[in-house]
Amino acid sequence: MASIFTRIIEGEIPGSFILKQERWVAFLDINPVSPGHILLVPRQEVALLPELDGASLAETGAWLARLDCALRQVTGCAAVSVLLRDGPVAGQEVPHLHWHLIPRHSGDRAHHFASGSYASDEERERMRAALQAALDRVQG
Ligand code: 5GP
Repeated sequence: MASIFTRIIEGEIPGSFILKQERWVAFLDINPVSPGHILLVPRQEVALLPELDGASLAETGAWLARLDCALRQVTGCAAVSVLLRDGPVAGQEVPHLHWHLIPRHSGDRAHHFASGSYASDEERERMRAALQAALDRVQG
């Protein structure tokens, strides 16, 4: 059965997309640790980093850096937590490889990543659109 992220990528389940590229997509986490929390997901459905095809793997760093930059621009965050849970014992709940990019603010005490939510669909859409526009401005 397809993972929940494949179902989002294929449009079966709604997603707030910031990025749709040949090998990678990025969309907002439905339960953000803080507003703007992004998931960077390969289209290839593999659970673990070592299973990822070489071409996708080669692009990972560039997409992470661009998304990090867009997040800083849009949220004004002081830092970004970039996190990969590479297997269930590391806390991975969705068995489809994904990087978390979490905006961090001074004193947020979010080291344990308690999940929150968006106040409304409109608020989430504003965040999605702002991040997508910022990403377009960030050089690859
Ligand atoms: P993990 O624990 O596997 O590292 O993270 C899975 C993440 O996927 C969680 O942060 C969770 O909020 C997010 N998530 C789970 N289901 C959905 C969904 O249907 N849509 C979106 N956008 N995010 C989801």
